[in-house]
Amino acid sequence: MSAYEYATVPSAGDRIAGTTDQLAVPDCPIVPFIEGDGIGPDIWAATRHVVDAAVAKSYGGAREIAWMEVFAGEKAQEISGEWLPQETLEALTEFKVAIKGPLTTPVGGGIRSLNVTLRQVLDLYSCVRPVRWIPGVPSPVREPEKVDMVVFRENTEDVYAGIEWASGSEEANRVRDFLQGSMGSSIRELSGIGIKPISPFGTKRHVAAAIRYALARGRDSVTLMHKGNIMKYTEGAFRDWGYEVAAEQFADVTVPESRLWEGEEAGGRVVIKDRIADSMFQQVLLRPAEYSVVATPNLNGDYLSDACAAQVGGLGMAPGANIGDVVALFEATHGTAPKYAGLNRVNPGSLILSAGMMLEHLAWDEAARAIDRGLEGAVGARMVTYDLERQMDGATKVSTSRFGETIVAHM
Ligand code: NAP
Repeated sequence: MSAYEYATVPSAGDRIAGTTDQLAVPDCPIVPFIEGDGIGPDIWAATRHVVDAAVAKSYGGAREIAWMEVFAGEKAQEISGEWLPQETLEALTEFKVAIKGPLTTPVGGGIRSLNVTLRQVLDLYSCVRPVRWIPGVPSPVREPEKVDMVVFRENTEDVYAGIEWASGSEEANRVRDFLQGSMGSSIRELSGIGIKPISPFGTKRHVAAAIRYALARGRDSVTLMHKGNIMKYTEGAFRDWGYEVAAEQFADVTVPESRLWEGEEAGGRVVIKDRIADSMFQQVLLRPAEYSVVATPNLNGDYLSDACAAQVGGLGMAPGANIGDVVALFEATHGTAPKYAGLNRVNPGSLILSAGMMLEHLAWDEAARAIDRGLEGAVGARMVTYDLERQMDGATKVSTSRFGETIVAHM
């Protein structure tokens, strides 16, 4: 066991063992949480209340989460002088499953986004964003009930790798000279240049995680979203490697869509399909019921997950997780909304739904369903926070904490 300087390991709990695919979860698992900055403390308090109530209601005291606070962001800076203490990374690795509120990205001083750092250092290579409509939540589309997708966005590669050079810089000029001289490529003068690496290793482990998720959750398809008709060796290769890993590791339980066109039946197997990125944005609006798990490279997934979230009520109701082979970190998908900090006003829905995903990850599905029932009940009773209330007729505006209590009352 590691010694922690700032965090305290709860004496009552036990460690989760195993890997993401095969977790061994004790009845009283220690789960680290990062409260987060800005509205983080408000939404975390409501979330913790809801999760504890859902677990108590579902297991009658036989199961309980031993919460352990670990520090990042402004609170970490205050107590340790660092934005992301090394011991926080160690605790997340040791205890394997954790949840976090939003974190401020410090401006200036060369400090990288804490969220990006957490993903990279812990190798959380898949960003998982389920998108499902809760009846009653205001939506801009006519049939939001048809939206039930899980976007799996690759988290470590693509143009997000951060390999880029500014227009006119010496580096950009050298890269341009090399590409023009040795590679026969023509690049316009003063171009900014960015690199888009996509590897078979990064793609295959990510698509394999998406397929395993589909199998474990009884979902009928995994769609590979790419712009491979234009970017053949990056996004086109993503599609090819996706089909390859399905054939190599999941031959008996998956089937490529092309074989269905030839008359074969899916027969309960997960259908692997692919769609060009631009058409995918149409498809999720026009034929959302045909898509279940969608596996994407990094940039496509960033765009698609927000566009899908908008169909079911926006980021305030969109959960997410960053998951690797060892660690799974569940998080609110919105930011710290500093103007609402400490006002007990904002919607805790994103963090609460992320906590529901976390309970599913622990295979505590009964407690996850209790959260779903509670949320559906609270929205159905039209007792909602300001962001939903301003879009709903006849709704009652409630505070963050009251919304949490209303969810518990409807479990
Ligand atoms: P933001 O914090 O997400 O807030 C933008 C707007 O979204 C808010 O003004 C509010 O809209 C709405 N909103 C966000 N969360 C809400 C909630 N729980 N309930 C209801 N409405 C909510 O985005 P930002 O202002 O661009 O970013 C602020 C800080 O957050 C930055 O430091 C940024 O780096 C950080 N950030 C962190 C994360 C993360 O930790 N994962 C993600 C994104 C941004 P209205 O004004 O219309 O009410």
